[in-house]
Amino acid sequence: MNNFDKILKNGLETSSFSEEELVLMLDEKNPENIQKLFDSANAVKLEIVGNKVSLRGLIEIGNVCRKNCFYCGIRRENFKMERFELSQNEILADAELAWKFKYGSIVLQGGEIQTEKHITFIEDTVRKIKSLTNNELGITLSLGEQSLETYRYWFEAGAHRYLLRIETSSPEIYGRIHPADHLFNERLQALYDLRTAGFQLGSGIMFGFDGQTSADMARDLLFLKKLDVDMVGMGPYSIHRDTPMGRVHPVQNNADMLTLGCKMIALLRILMPDINIASTTVLQALAPDGREKGLLAGANVIMPNVSEVRFRKAYQLYDNKPGIDENADCTRNALEQSLHSIGLVPAYNEWGDSKHFKNRKN
Ligand code: SAH
Ligand code: SF4
Repeated sequence: MNNFDKILKNGLETSSFSEEELVLMLDEKNPENIQKLFDSANAVKLEIVGNKVSLRGLIEIGNVCRKNCFYCGIRRENFKMERFELSQNEILADAELAWKFKYGSIVLQGGEIQTEKHITFIEDTVRKIKSLTNNELGITLSLGEQSLETYRYWFEAGAHRYLLRIETSSPEIYGRIHPADHLFNERLQALYDLRTAGFQLGSGIMFGFDGQTSADMARDLLFLKKLDVDMVGMGPYSIHRDTPMGRVHPVQNNADMLTLGCKMIALLRILMPDINIASTTVLQALAPDGREKGLLAGANVIMPNVSEVRFRKAYQLYDNKPGIDENADCTRNALEQSLHSIGLVPAYNEWGDSKHFKNRKN
């Protein structure tokens, strides 16, 4: 047995890899070995979480943000970006559509806003979505860093999962991709607060940008395991031309980034067999079948966009965002077909909670 096979076999038996082993896997160039990694991770997923794909109707509620992350198209100082905020009725209409589509759950995602008005608006909107859908729709929030009090307030209103990426587990790299007043420790504290408030904890990282090594990414994966997250949304960095990072390094190799994205998913699935892992939209931006590739490498969640098409262009975190011209109906039909074509089944009308969360509670 060669070294690659030995490491993979041991990883599968123990659900663990050392940092050095992860680096070796991330740097692996042999296509046969890479495929073996994807297939093994997919088999772990099929055994532990099954062949159903959980659906989260993604509602991009607004692109106003107080933060200024160097990579993000909707950062505060991108003055070229036209700003929008959905009204409550618009959010309710999108949520109702997701419910009618039997998506089972939604994600409300947007820029970070910490005003009293916004905090109350979200609380009230969550309550209204719950009553409009007879409490049938699960709600994930992804609205940035907030106080423990706010997280509690939103949890009590009925949201039960929260996604807040740490972006990188290295405080030093965090400092390079954010302005000085965006503090790593505050982001970490927000993750602890989310757990204290009762949320199923989602986090994740962004990877593949300049100045980051395989060892950094390996440590990111081990960090997510140590944090004991319930769900992960992670993906390759993708350029937005009107950002400080996009202006400095305006090109990247899509095929390499997609392979890297799938390797990260596969390794995390082996490290954490029972968590929810999303095959993120960025993968679809890298290749038309990128999202399916992510699912076949071990992911079990996708987030079809249910926002109205006219707002999708304005929520551009990175260039070439897919699906900005398709309406939600097209997305749904295409989705169903593509899942069936790879032997997977959409989990209609299910919240699709993380098994890991349930297992930890028991
Ligand atoms: N404001 C919230 C939620 C919206 S941003 C927050 O930051 O948590 C959601 C995620 O989009 C971020 O966590 C970041 O990882 C990702 N993102 C932003 N710009 C990106 C880019 N250029 N390429 C890839 N992912 C990006
Ligand atoms: Fe705002 Fe999130 Fe973009 Fe940072 S990544 S600028 S917090 S929307």
